[in-house]
Amino acid sequence: MGLIEQKQHFSVNLLDWYMINRRDLPWRRHNNPYFTWVSEIMLQQTRVDTVIPYFNRFIGNFPTVQALAEAPEEDVLKNWEGLGYYSRARNLQAAARQVMELHGGEIPQDKQAVFALKGVGPYTAGAILSIAFNQPQPAVDGNVMRVLSRYFLIDEDIMKGSTRVLMEELAGELIPEGRARDFNQALMELGALVCTPKAPHCLTCPVMEQCSGRIAGRELTLPVKTKAKPPRPEQRLVAIVEGRGVHRGRVLVRQRPESGLLARMWELPHVLAEPPAKAGKKAAPLADEPAMALLAGSLWAEGFAARPEGLATHAEHVFSHIVWQLQVYKCTEQSQSSELPLIAAEARAAYDAQAATKDTVATDPDGQSASTFTSTSSITSDQVERRMLTDDVEVLDNAPQIHIGKGDQLTYRWIGPEDMDKMAFPNIFLKLLSSYFAGVYDDINE
Ligand code: SF4
Repeated sequence: MGLIEQKQHFSVNLLDWYMINRRDLPWRRHNNPYFTWVSEIMLQQTRVDTVIPYFNRFIGNFPTVQALAEAPEEDVLKNWEGLGYYSRARNLQAAARQVMELHGGEIPQDKQAVFALKGVGPYTAGAILSIAFNQPQPAVDGNVMRVLSRYFLIDEDIMKGSTRVLMEELAGELIPEGRARDFNQALMELGALVCTPKAPHCLTCPVMEQCSGRIAGRELTLPVKTKAKPPRPEQRLVAIVEGRGVHRGRVLVRQRPESGLLARMWELPHVLAEPPAKAGKKAAPLADEPAMALLAGSLWAEGFAARPEGLATHAEHVFSHIVWQLQVYKCTEQSQSSELPLIAAEARAAYDAQAATKDTVATDPDGQSASTFTSTSSITSDQVERRMLTDDVEVLDNAPQIHIGKGDQLTYRWIGPEDMDKMAFPNIFLKLLSSYFAGVYDDINE
């Protein structure tokens, strides 16, 4: 069989199989371009089973482009909480505003206009145009490249841009006339259900007869993919600061800066303990004593008097390029500032002792040097005192803000369990706070 027939075999059999085996997914029940768009953004890096409840809740709360465009960002992030990769949610909302301003609320059908929407790359543009508007555009992601590499026995490295171009041309040629919507979804479905990464189900595959990879016994060695760099480990010290006096029953949280990793999300205060280890190597845990001194000094530099009481738990959170290895300490708010200089001095000494053994300056994901917390703070005892006496939970606009290092304005709040539903946290801090409020700590890995 020649290449033309092999392509025909693929398209015809795949489409027939899909029409019988397609999954009933919420975003497939209506031909709504907005639903297609939201689902495709959610499905990036995330499994279908995980996405379904998030999709239903998101569409329930933001049923139209206009509703999403007009929603407070905090609400959008809250609805995304747990899905990770939060820049996707921010970009989705920014793009919804573009659609309102430039296209009267209608998702455009023009390739350039779709591609110009924030957060929309070649794959998502192809998916929207083909699934929502039945345009013959390829939608090539890792799943599709795996299937095509195997079926056509393509040995090119799928991490290369040139291979993606080749795959897009091929995928475009395979779309049967007038069937882009079904065909592209069929290809994605085959990659998700049958031609899976580690154990492809060749015996039940609708295109197995002409699959060159299977015939050559290469289904497990394709696609060719150079290994991505392993994430770089960072050891971070986290404070669960328990409030006293007017803050009793609450813990301290802070909002991340306007830009960078996890921008504008809420978190427990934390500080980088060690210069990052090399990619693939484990970061060294810090002994509790210097760790607690470092943490107290860091909190003090941010304007809070708190005494670490002991290790509460360990946790780990994996980003695409960094792994946070977290040592979490329970701390208590201090009502007297007399001990602060001592705590700060201990922290400074502990940090200096470490720094003397290092020849590099640590940098965290936001580009802030690890020494910033002790060396650049200009907080006075008065400011610290004011911070301790301010109950800012109910009035966010009046929440104290403080300037630490490199121009970041950080906002802090004292929160109780009832505030958890109103604020957006990265998953790891959501779990830590939920465990704390439930009175249980376990080692938490993300
Ligand atoms: S026969 Fe096997 S390797 Fe080929 S496309 Fe089907 S599942 Fe993938």
